[in-house]
Amino acid sequence: MFNPQETDIKLLKGIGDAKAKQLLRLGVFTVWDLLTYFPVRFEDRRAVKKIFDLEHDSFATVNGIVVTPVSEHYVRKGLTYYKLQIRDDTGIATCIFFNNPYLRNYLKKGYEYSFYGKINIRGNVREILAPEFEPSSQSQCTKCIVPVYPLTSGITQKFLRKTISDTYRDYEKYFRDSIPPEILKEHSLCSVEYAIKNIHFPSDSKSLEIAKKRLVFEEFFILQTALRKMKESGSKERGIAFTDTDISPFESSLPFTLTSAQKTVTGEILRDLSSGNVMNRLVQGDVGSGKTVVAASALYACVKNGYQAAMMAPTEVLARQHYNDLSPILSQFGIKCALLTGSTTAKNKREIYEKLENGEIDIAFGTHALITDKVIFKSLALAITDEQHRFGVRQRMMLSSKGKSVHTLVMTATPIPRTLALIVYGDMDISVIDSLPPGRQEIDTYCVGENMRERIYAFIRKEVEKGNRAYIVCPSVEENEEMPLKSAEEHFNNLSKYIYPDIPMGIVHGKMKAKDKETSMSDFVSGNTKILVSTTVIEVGVNVPEATLMVIENAERFGLSQLHQLRGRVGRGKEKSYCVLFCGSFSQDIKERMKIMTESRDGFKISETDLKLRGPGDFFGTRQHGEIHFKIADLADDFSVLKASGIAAEKLLKNDPSLSEEKHFYIKEATEKLAKSLTL
Ligand code: ADP
Ligand code: MG
Repeated sequence: MFNPQETDIKLLKGIGDAKAKQLLRLGVFTVWDLLTYFPVRFEDRRAVKKIFDLEHDSFATVNGIVVTPVSEHYVRKGLTYYKLQIRDDTGIATCIFFNNPYLRNYLKKGYEYSFYGKINIRGNVREILAPEFEPSSQSQCTKCIVPVYPLTSGITQKFLRKTISDTYRDYEKYFRDSIPPEILKEHSLCSVEYAIKNIHFPSDSKSLEIAKKRLVFEEFFILQTALRKMKESGSKERGIAFTDTDISPFESSLPFTLTSAQKTVTGEILRDLSSGNVMNRLVQGDVGSGKTVVAASALYACVKNGYQAAMMAPTEVLARQHYNDLSPILSQFGIKCALLTGSTTAKNKREIYEKLENGEIDIAFGTHALITDKVIFKSLALAITDEQHRFGVRQRMMLSSKGKSVHTLVMTATPIPRTLALIVYGDMDISVIDSLPPGRQEIDTYCVGENMRERIYAFIRKEVEKGNRAYIVCPSVEENEEMPLKSAEEHFNNLSKYIYPDIPMGIVHGKMKAKDKETSMSDFVSGNTKILVSTTVIEVGVNVPEATLMVIENAERFGLSQLHQLRGRVGRGKEKSYCVLFCGSFSQDIKERMKIMTESRDGFKISETDLKLRGPGDFFGTRQHGEIHFKIADLADDFSVLKASGIAAEKLLKNDPSLSEEKHFYIKEATEKLAKSLTL
């Protein structure tokens, strides 16, 4: 029996190597990929207009009998147009085609066709420009709702419409419905056959809606079932059970006492580590909530039990910061730490590789450099990833795979509402550090317009003259941007030339070489530069206690959670800190969002509001590497379906945990396939 999911498109009529290659560029490899290559929009061409009623500058479907032969009009090389006239019982129109010498073969005088195209009216001449057409007895591109697909060179709308339509006809009988019948019924979802047909060729907007709802549900449902199963099987995996979980010597060596939130989370981690099962835990904590020291407790426990540990950070600055903060404390207990990053010299690297392999080094701090093949641990038992949202699942797994049944701890400062966390991190246990250490500086936050610019510039100068440092963050500018945005580079040039020629300034943006970024960052950390202009690349956990001022340009362009992250870069030292949000416009929506920023410092509250106002897109934007890539579901629009499918997934696994019932065969197949792609 054919399984459309495994059938190569080359088996379809009319698709050879060349076409298959072009389709591959669209991510289409199997018959099922083709059938789930969804339109981005539709054109409603159902209404047929009389020629007399045509309106200038609109698109319309017209039925007409061809009354002239095709005439050819050469304009210049590369531009020839072809004309013919059609009529209906209200008038005459001229169809104009460009560079299409084959028309004569298709459009015969005396026959009736349907045309769809843009209408141009000049005086009493009615023109239809570059229309699509078909015999009036057909309705594939006229008189119906027509799908519009994203294209690539060599692939046309017409080709996709026809190929998908033919493939649907030939393969419909082989479809596999991954939503079990009882769930279809409970949630009033249509069949997979109906859904695929109507997502491409809906007869009306209602059937499109029904089809879409089911496909969105399906996509979320498979994902959530897969994540829950992964979590379940992960939690059963046997791991190294640490026997000594007394961390009090480490705790008492700290210059502060742990907050109760830190204690709770540390307790959860230690319980995992001694449970005999492999830990797979995410620690969420607002910026500055003190995640590093929680991680350090786990590192300490690991080494105390005779194993090695690794802690990976997304940037060199951050990795070095962890190393500098923690190794002095840990070395008091005879724990040997090393720092491994891209800029570690070859000689040092060799030495570190050797000592990790023979066990002389207990803890390796570092960047991606930790996951290269050269790094071999003697006895890795704990892998920590900081600022998880900057890494992919794959990288996390690569670090963990450097040992056997390694305990995994990931930390993130992106507060995610619980409902979303279940999706983004549904395969992990979650701990939350829900309070800040005492004595934190308030960060006064102001939202201002252009009229305040000079005063803010003076304020920046004043802060710098006091010995403090300032960040100025600009949005990343896309190439095709139309709005006048401050780009980091431009802004840096202007400021350093005209406003602060006497103040050492630095710049960091995404297009710089990694090495230059690091240099620029560490110049700011050390105080060589006093003002740092950057894009959001500094968003991640850098600790510069002397920084007291965060200025954000075009703040309306950022998600609230992102603004909150950025603001968290200041207020880390003894001095009072400030955050200034420059807004380019003040619509109602922007005002509302900025108000929350000026009123709240609670990352979770801010993220909940962000979710309500902007939808969840921003949270997923941060999960890079496209691991969770939705074909049709849109987290912003389909949030209620997301919840419903989560409940369905939970219920399904409760009733049939191993998905071994026959009616669950296809959902089992789909989740296993997805789980594999997520962890490969
Ligand atoms: P984040 O959660 O953003 O990674 P860090 O771990 O970098 O936060 O901690 C921010 C700052 O708070 C550090 O300077 C750290 O030493 C300090 N800190 C952490 N825990 C406490 C505590 N319990 N009491 C006081 N200061 C703390
Ligand atoms: Mg941190």
